[in-house]
Amino acid sequence: MKNHIVTTVTAGLLLASSFVSAEETLPLQAVNRANEVIDAALEAYGGADVIANLNSVARKSHFTTWATNQSRSPGPPWDENEQESFSAIDFENKTFVGKNRGSGGGFDFDGSQIIKGDEGWQVSYRAGTLTPVAAPDFDTTSGPFIRVTAPLLVKQLQNRRQTSHWLGEVEFEGRPHDVITLVMEVGPALGLYFDKETHLLSRSERVLPPFGQVDYRFTDYETIDGIPFSKTFKLYVNDQPNIYIDIKSTEVNQPIEQYTNIPEELKLVEAAPPQPTEVELQEVREGVFLVGAAGTYAMFVEMDDHVVAVGGTAGIPERIKALREVVSDKPIKFGVMTHHHNDHVLGVPAYQAEDAVVLTVKEHEAVIRAAATDAGSLKLQFVEDKYVFDDGNRKLEIVDIGPTPHSEHLLVAWLPEEGILFEADHFPNPTNGQMPPAQPVTKRLAEAIDERGMKVKIIVGAHSPRVASIDDLRRSLALSPVRIAQTSP
Ligand SMILES: [Zn+2]
Repeated sequence: MKNHIVTTVTAGLLLASSFVSAEETLPLQAVNRANEVIDAALEAYGGADVIANLNSVARKSHFTTWATNQSRSPGPPWDENEQESFSAIDFENKTFVGKNRGSGGGFDFDGSQIIKGDEGWQVSYRAGTLTPVAAPDFDTTSGPFIRVTAPLLVKQLQNRRQTSHWLGEVEFEGRPHDVITLVMEVGPALGLYFDKETHLLSRSERVLPPFGQVDYRFTDYETIDGIPFSKTFKLYVNDQPNIYIDIKSTEVNQPIEQYTNIPEELKLVEAAPPQPTEVELQEVREGVFLVGAAGTYAMFVEMDDHVVAVGGTAGIPERIKALREVVSDKPIKFGVMTHHHNDHVLGVPAYQAEDAVVLTVKEHEAVIRAAATDAGSLKLQFVEDKYVFDDGNRKLEIVDIGPTPHSEHLLVAWLPEEGILFEADHFPNPTNGQMPPAQPVTKRLAEAIDERGMKVKIIVGAHSPRVASIDDLRRSLALSPVRIAQTSP
């Protein structure tokens, strides 16, 4: 032990002496200047001691969000949604509470995540359920709140100074700024823009695959307990507005314990088992296959001399490969795109590579072509209300059940003889079969099933490996969102 300390001291002295005499190389300059920027920022945010002692923050806020490439229509203006949010963090006790209530895309949500040291829970106030989190992770769960709270980013810089490099000086909104990096415990590095005069954080940026450039703007500073906090915040993704936040209240260094209270009337439920990570193939009925893994699934239907594929989520090439192990001799002649959302058109190039005709609605043509490898040579078939495949032995109908609260047009696949329905994004189907109270999208799906006189027996979907029964849908429709008195804001 003693030896170890001596070694450390010696190394420290060596480092200090070489530091003085070293020629200012680019990396050395990057480290030194980052340290100057961090010191100035700490001063501007109330001083190094104040930031070191900043242990807890609780903020209530109003979010406006834009559903980029996830709106009811294929192009801008994107659907605008509102949500109420509450976040509280306590570093010493490794406690984080994040709460969100709102709606978007035909889904209502009202829930919270609670991390308390080694314990964690997921609360759905809407379903009235409490689910223990298997591996609570304070850093990952609190990261999004830290990234939108300037003094907490400065606290990160104080603790993780060694990760920081000065990138250069730039004009931002007509004012000179220093840009330095910050590497948090989890996620890609951030580039932080500090105003050269006020030393306050104006902007932060990172590149986050697959979204692209994520750009955070801190505006409208006010001082709370000697620390400047920005009262408004804007987040852009690839230069398009994604989230605006209006802060309603901020508490500094107050106990947050009371926000971790869990209402007693919540029903304790086991977490749904994780989805398979390796592609699995299920033969739902003879010649009808649900193939996928990790939250993305496609249905393949065998006709007399070809296959019709339904769904365009991630990993279609691997799903086709798995199909080929059981159906090797029939070409995939058609690929059905359920709707235009960016996570549902990824399969277009895969179907194009199979030389298949892609089925969509006329209104989604531009999005589908943009997703293709070669837009010009893409073969399209537009579905107007309904498109029927019938080889004499099997009937497969592709039906537009739009408009729904999720998409103006939505194609589902329907096998009337077998009573099998394939849908995307309208029927949450957890792996444990615990049905939540029906979402607005689910209610619309049920209406469409009735309107079309479909005698559904089985429902499979683009995001679940579980084969649901019509009773699962009925159970979900019979449940109402619960009302539970909440102790936190
Ligand atoms: Zn969708």
